[in-house]
This record gives sequence, structure tokens and C-alpha cells, in this order.
Amino acid sequence: MLILTCPYCGVAADETELHPGGEAHLTREGPESGEEAFHDYLFLRQNPKGVHFERWRHSHGCGKWFHAARCTVSLEVFGTYPAQVSEPPEDILSTIDARRPGWRDTA
Ligand SMILES: [Zn+2]
Repeated sequence: MLILTCPYCGVAADETELHPGGEAHLTREGPESGEEAFHDYLFLRQNPKGVHFERWRHSHGCGKWFHAARCTVSLEVFGTYPAQVSEPPEDILSTIDARRPGWRDTA
């Protein structure tokens, strides 16, 4: 079972209390972008076997969106952090580097 700690209220919630929101850190394309960029934004997603950054909502708790870094194979959670950032925080990246050396080469 996947258990994520909400970075806002501190509750360690299992997946029945959460709602998945897909891949984190997407660049949103506006109306001034070309069709190909908009197509890629709408339809292309990462589906890695290993480290993945995702959006989650604490839907049966505080209701806020947050990000989680986890392994899609083992469900190991590297950390959670607020959704108002454009890239993962350094402490999360350092944790992943320590537990999964070389993961950036496959990302
Ligand atoms: Zn919460």
C-alpha cells in the first residue's frame, strides 16, 4: 500500500485518502504555442520504471495538492513537497541520489 505524508497537514495518508493527479512539473502550454507543443502537453507523459515525480491531492484530508517523489517499482517514497514549485527541492533530489545512484541517467 502506498502511504504519502501530506506536506501541509503532516498526516501520513494511505492511497484511499488521496487522489492522483498525474505527472508533476509539467510545462503548461498557452494559446500562443504551436499545435505540436500543445499536443505534447496534453498527451505525452513520462511512464518510468523507477523514480517518478507525481501530483497528489489529500482529498479526504486538508484537500490540498502536493507533489511526491517515489519509485514506481517498489513504491518507496523519497519525499513529498508543496505543489507550488516548478522543480523538485534539492533535499528530495539528494535523498534520491543517495538511495538510487545513477537514477538521473535513466530519467
Ligand atoms: Zn493534508
